[in-house]
Amino acid sequence: AMTLAFVALGANLGDAPATVRIAMAQIDMIPRTRVTARSSLYRTAPFEASGPDFINAVVAIETRLAPEALLDALQRLEQHAGRERPYHHAPRTLDLDLLRHGDAVLATPRLTLPHPRMNERAFVLVPLSEIAPELVSAEQLTAVAHQAIERL
Ligand code: AMP
Repeated sequence: AMTLAFVALGANLGDAPATVRIAMAQIDMIPRTRVTARSSLYRTAPFEASGPDFINAVVAIETRLAPEALLDALQRLEQHAGRERPYHHAPRTLDLDLLRHGDAVLATPRLTLPHPRMNERAFVLVPLSEIAPELVSAEQLTAVAHQAIERL
């Protein structure tokens, strides 16, 4: 059966908007998976970190992959982006987080669903609310309203 899932994308090195757009296209090429909605790209200050601003977005997907298989595929895309690192242990160019996988509730060493920190982060909630407004409440948006985020 098809499951509706949501993936958050973030990049803050090099041409971050291009990295995020390419990652959206690569997610659409994951087997048994297609992207059904793409948020706008957003610029955000680093959260609990220093460095360049991040570019963030969220995509909705329909997938026949189980949560762990989908995480495998997303982590392969992160590693592929990482091959462009200029030096060993350079910061990652691409971060992909699985926010939700249908109604799955999971807490394994590899995978927690729904994503445990998504409700604290404007860079997740704002793009998610753009493509799935029913999943984000006004109260949740108010709680992160102090976090600077700019739609590109
Ligand atoms: P981070 O460096 O914050 O992106 O965390 C990556 C680690 O979080 C990986 O080892 C994943 O196995 C783990 N993880 C747990 N839950 C999730 C999730 N819902 N989406 C992505 N990674 C997750």
